[in-house]
Amino acid sequence: MIMSKQKPRVAIFDFACCEGCQLQFVNLEEQILDLINVVDVVEWREAMSEQSHEYDIAIIEGSITRPEDAERLEVIRSRAKVLIALGACATTGGVNKLKNNFDLDEVKKCVYGKDASKPHLATAMTKAVDEVVKVDFKIHGCPIHRKELVYVLKSLLLGKKPEIPEYPVCVECKANGNPCLWDYGQICLGPITRAGCEARCPTNGFRCFGCRGYIDNPNVEAAKDVIEKYNLNIEDLKSKMVLFGSTQEPTL
Ligand code: SF4
Ligand code: SF4
Ligand code: SF4
Repeated sequence: MIMSKQKPRVAIFDFACCEGCQLQFVNLEEQILDLINVVDVVEWREAMSEQSHEYDIAIIEGSITRPEDAERLEVIRSRAKVLIALGACATTGGVNKLKNNFDLDEVKKCVYGKDASKPHLATAMTKAVDEVVKVDFKIHGCPIHRKELVYVLKSLLLGKKPEIPEYPVCVECKANGNPCLWDYGQICLGPITRAGCEARCPTNGFRCFGCRGYIDNPNVEAAKDVIEKYNLNIEDLKSKMVLFGSTQEPTL
């Protein structure tokens, strides 16, 4: 936990990702000024040219897809007191982990065509950050939710442990008064996905596709009952879990 008379030094690093979660920092608008008043940002490739080897909090965006990235991450870990994984790419491997379902050479040919064997395009199986180093806190989502970003950072700066929901998206969806999308033919992953996004997809008429990762103890029996009620089977549900659940899906 961070509690210091000096401003905590924060460094933000990116690995394999679209950088959309870092963009959420910028989207904080005036709140970013409040944050900058209470921390020293010492490295952030997207926003400044300065670099530093001395920081208290390292924020990691992106998944780890090459051995040299794992080495770089280990060095960052050794320098940071607190390490935060930012966004689905970092917390679960995200969409990048889709490639682990296929033969890597085939994936490279599909993406890079005749250039696939060029050394600078070498790649390995995708890993989430906590598959390489210890992660202290995770901010889930693709992209992350700005409110949660502010909440986690404020908690750390106040020396408190941020509480991340350990209940499903359905709880927030029901609290928003939404009709259930299963009644409209959408296979929604809300019953098994971690809440904390205010059920933003079902609230806008689109099924939850699991970007915040699965809750630790999903009610699998209840999920099976729902599937049966709508005359579907487990494979229908699993087919919707591939995008964000390549290697960490609950046993159904
Ligand atoms: S989690 Fe999603 S929005 Fe964030 S960096 Fe990865 S792909 Fe982009
Ligand atoms: S729409 Fe999805 S998140 Fe909302 S109640 Fe139904 S299953 Fe749950
Ligand atoms: S509703 Fe599901 S897919 Fe949408 S933001 Fe929330 S967790 Fe992600």
